[in-house]
Amino acid sequence: MTSKSALITGITGQDGGHLTRLLLDEGYTVFGIVRGQSNPKRAAFSQEFPEVTLIEADLLDASSVIRAVDLADPDEFYNLAAISHVGYSFRNPVLTLDTTGKGVLHCLEAIRITGRAETTRFYQASTSEMYGGLDYNRPGLGYDEDSLFHPRSPYGVAKLYAHWITRNYRESYGIFASCGILFNHEGERRGVEFVTRKISDAVARISLGLADDVQLGDLWPKRDWGYAGDYVRGMWQMLQHSEPDDFVLATGETHSIEEFLDRAFAEVGIDDWHPYVVRNESFTRPAEVDILLGNPAKAERVLGWRREVDFEGLVRRMVTHDVELLRGQSVRS
Ligand code: GDP
Repeated sequence: MTSKSALITGITGQDGGHLTRLLLDEGYTVFGIVRGQSNPKRAAFSQEFPEVTLIEADLLDASSVIRAVDLADPDEFYNLAAISHVGYSFRNPVLTLDTTGKGVLHCLEAIRITGRAETTRFYQASTSEMYGGLDYNRPGLGYDEDSLFHPRSPYGVAKLYAHWITRNYRESYGIFASCGILFNHEGERRGVEFVTRKISDAVARISLGLADDVQLGDLWPKRDWGYAGDYVRGMWQMLQHSEPDDFVLATGETHSIEEFLDRAFAEVGIDDWHPYVVRNESFTRPAEVDILLGNPAKAERVLGWRREVDFEGLVRRMVTHDVELLRGQSVRS
């Protein structure tokens, strides 16, 4: 058991929940940043994790981040907060840049200005969206830490700034700042605005007679989908390592949305999903990332990171969870 403390931004999000569980199990004192009174997930989070101290701050407001860092005095600072949805970032590009890009600078400045450059380790949630999937010409190998970036959305561009400013503070001020370049990671805590959870939720509803169909955009893009619980362990391992560095976390497999549909519907005994899937142009993107495939060899070799849940296990876990969740709700109502 450790006596360390951690501060997490984006604590009420998917990764925040998984990471909080891991850190509490490791004996950490956990602090989380929440945005003012407007975060609807705050009450549910406090109910699940009453031992976590929540601090009101906003990544857009540097002084509030400084105050949060002073209050928590963390050994480890995990920046998971972001405008994180690619489609949303096309509709709100300026807010995306401010939060997902400049917000990271505020975190790093808070560490530097409060004199914690040598004591607080920083984790930045970088993303496979920085690669962009264009000109993918490494069949079977996947993107790694040395691949070229070519972001294809305001979200990806903002994350690339965040990635480089984190590296810059590492090189300029000696802050132990590591970036995890995480490929898509999903699970039962994922929001329904992401395609995997949208599908698992819809499949559960259709199987229970609560919905007739699901409306989706393009089905051909391919993603390297892993389980979020495995990935937060990798984040934590990055900050326990002897040196700050950047690591790809991925499964090394890529699957299309059609394949996700195949497996998800098969879980509830439906072999042909086509009658249940309706195309809706509003869910397509101005620029699409065709394919993402990551190569986690460095994290496996250097950190000893391993994923435990494979693609089939992930889909099963999500559909089973949503069927049980909806059954529970219909029993209660
Ligand atoms: P992303 O990889 O971070 O953009 O994660 P998403 O889960 O939002 O999207 C994954 C892929 O699913 C992208 O290629 C989307 O264009 C595609 N997609 C197709 N239909 C939908 C939909 O209805 N919602 C979302 N979120 N994505 C969709």
